[in-house]
Amino acid sequence: MKYEMQTEKGGMRKMNTREDAKQLLELVEEGTSPFHVTAWVERQLLAAGFEKLSMERDWGLDNGGKYYVVYNGSSLAAFTIGKRFTFGDAFRIGAAHTDFPGLRVKPSPEILKDGYRQLNVEVYGGAILNTWLDRPLSAAGRVVLRSKDVFHPEIRYLDIKKPFLTIPNLAIHLNRDMNKGVELNKQKDMLPVLGLEGEEKQEDFFLEFLADRLHVDKREILDYELGLYNGEPGCFLGMKEEFLSAPRLDNLTSVQAIVAGLLKGGRDRGVNAAVFFDHEEIGSRTKQGAGSMFLSAVLERILLAYGRGREKFLETFGESMLLSVDVGHALHPNQADKNDPTNKDVLGKGICIKESSSQSYATDSQAVAVMQQICEAAEVPYQKFVNRSDGTSGSTLGSIASSFLPVKTVDVGVPLLAMHSSRELMGTADQESLGRALEAFYSL
Ligand code: ZN
Repeated sequence: MKYEMQTEKGGMRKMNTREDAKQLLELVEEGTSPFHVTAWVERQLLAAGFEKLSMERDWGLDNGGKYYVVYNGSSLAAFTIGKRFTFGDAFRIGAAHTDFPGLRVKPSPEILKDGYRQLNVEVYGGAILNTWLDRPLSAAGRVVLRSKDVFHPEIRYLDIKKPFLTIPNLAIHLNRDMNKGVELNKQKDMLPVLGLEGEEKQEDFFLEFLADRLHVDKREILDYELGLYNGEPGCFLGMKEEFLSAPRLDNLTSVQAIVAGLLKGGRDRGVNAAVFFDHEEIGSRTKQGAGSMFLSAVLERILLAYGRGREKFLETFGESMLLSVDVGHALHPNQADKNDPTNKDVLGKGICIKESSSQSYATDSQAVAVMQQICEAAEVPYQKFVNRSDGTSGSTLGSIASSFLPVKTVDVGVPLLAMHSSRELMGTADQESLGRALEAFYSL
């Protein structure tokens, strides 16, 4: 499938609609922890000629420049400055999250019991627990090592890559009521097995395993943030490959689309920014989450680097705009009454613009109208999503980020089925639609 897009010079550009979906599958494979998602974004930016900045040093910025800054390993802000940028020009910001629900390894996690080696884990975010059973699981994240300077321990990223754990289901023969629904206890029922007891019963077998992978002595390891992830690759699915089935589509769909949009789009005036926050799945209220000063600090520093102060920064609020990009709930064919009766979002029919009067999705009609006009200008199909009045279906970082940066904010994203399952389902064509919407947002 191909689509054509009008370029700035009036020519037509042919694009393959699968380009975005294929890059998404690559990101699913590499983005196995918030740190690895951030590292993937960083690699795309470096390949496109972006320059790395540090929060701890002065920024020398130029019109036409492309920059990014990483914060605490799992959050990142990138921006491009228009060639004819002047102070007070608006910011256009795309925001998504780098984390996903799952299981995190606790400290001292080793369990030797009844002939098995198991790990003590805790649930991170709103995971659908039963979808984590019987999967080939691996682990990724960061491990922090002893250093000479006590305030700067050594940080290593680690992705074990191969599946080495699983959480086996109970046989139906041992629970004949299983198909009536099973409540899983987070402490008792979600512990993965990763080996058999064997001859040597070393108490810290997981620490030894990590040390071996990192080629360090186990005494060097002080702490870690390691998450289990579904090690299955994503795939196209459906008679005409209308669907894409993969782990972590919430919210890697948005990460891919924002990066692609930022790299393809561009404006002569103003600043285009992309920000990727950690900790959305646990409420965003952390130093590298959307409920922090990180985004507004980065944007204010752009003007400070030009020798302009807070007043010029505050002047940008009126014209600036934030797209909070995250997945939406598509209508489930077997559970159609779970969605709103008059706004029914379907896979493959375009991006969702999410609205909620409770502001669980950032909603104001002026900002939504701007987004609709952007979609229409770029010929991007869109659908409106609202919750059923007698139900709730979560929230996004949009309202939280805009309470720290009061600019026009809209919630958009691809429609999704099985959100927060360890494997989710989307419409293949929607990824390209989202990428094109972002490109238009950064270009018009
Ligand atoms: Zn999400």
